[in-house]
Amino acid sequence: MSISRREWIRTISVSVPAALWERQRPEAAGSDKSFANKRPFSFAAIADIQYCDSAPANNRYYRDSLDRLKRCIEHLNSLRPDFVLLLGDLIDAEFASLERVLTVLRDLTMPFYPVLGNHDVQIEQSRRQQAWRMLGYDRRGRGKGYYDFAHKGWRFVALNGTDVSLLAHRPGTLEYQRAMQWLAQLKGRKAVNAYEWNSGIGPEQVQWLKAALDRATNAGEKAIVFCHYPVFPVSSHVLWNHVEVAGVLEASPATVLYLAGHKHDGDYGVRNGVHYLTLRGMVETPQTAYSVFQVSPDQIRVVGFGREASRELPLAAAGKSAAKTRFNNHPNPSETI
Ligand SMILES: [Zn+2]
Repeated sequence: MSISRREWIRTISVSVPAALWERQRPEAAGSDKSFANKRPFSFAAIADIQYCDSAPANNRYYRDSLDRLKRCIEHLNSLRPDFVLLLGDLIDAEFASLERVLTVLRDLTMPFYPVLGNHDVQIEQSRRQQAWRMLGYDRRGRGKGYYDFAHKGWRFVALNGTDVSLLAHRPGTLEYQRAMQWLAQLKGRKAVNAYEWNSGIGPEQVQWLKAALDRATNAGEKAIVFCHYPVFPVSSHVLWNHVEVAGVLEASPATVLYLAGHKHDGDYGVRNGVHYLTLRGMVETPQTAYSVFQVSPDQIRVVGFGREASRELPLAAAGKSAAKTRFNNHPNPSETI
């Protein structure tokens, strides 16, 4: 299906009673009154395009992904969200794949913000710096692959989940050794996520995340954090230090939503006032998947396309259900195009 621009604007312009915006976690002084008056807006997100010029395998339609992305971009250009988040694994392999994906992405009429996935960092060593520049990581976030930006009273925080990784660093380097040790520890205690295609966020980035969320709190902003790797619900795909990262997110009164990819069949849970949504991979199955988020002060409405489910993420309810945990990974396909 496709939503007309007029219907779209009507959907996101519903006004929100300020009283609905309540939180159980500590609030930044005086922040919420002004926050409740923030204007609604929308953004889109795409996970795991994972394009490569290869035949389908294991229910992944690598070659088809490029056409799916083209159709998705045409649709998003008609809906005109403010920007698009790319949740990692733009490609399955090879620099040439990245060039083709970026050529298609340039047709977007709004900005896009990427994060790194395990496949993105596996391109030829000689091309990695060039790829880094093409994705804009040299300009954003001091060249570390993580960064944040403000938008209409909200803070968007992009994490580099390939920070401590066997795939992002060359064997023999200190970084590679560090990742080897970490993975060995996880394997030693039979951790559910002890795989080399996962990775962790190092101490420097964890400190930076805390500081970014503190800045958001002090500015009266709510934060949406995005990363390639989920942290909750716990699965074989979560970050190596998912407990630590989720702890930082949930300790901040600013965090309302954590968005991830990597687990192609998606996932969802809510805990301590934070919604954790893992989006389904565009490459997986014969059907596409992407979503648009309609953001207002009291809720975030997810409009799913293809295999992605539509859902409402009530921000006030999330705050009230601090002690509860809810899981929901229902497979019902919603609107399709
Ligand atoms: Zn991945």
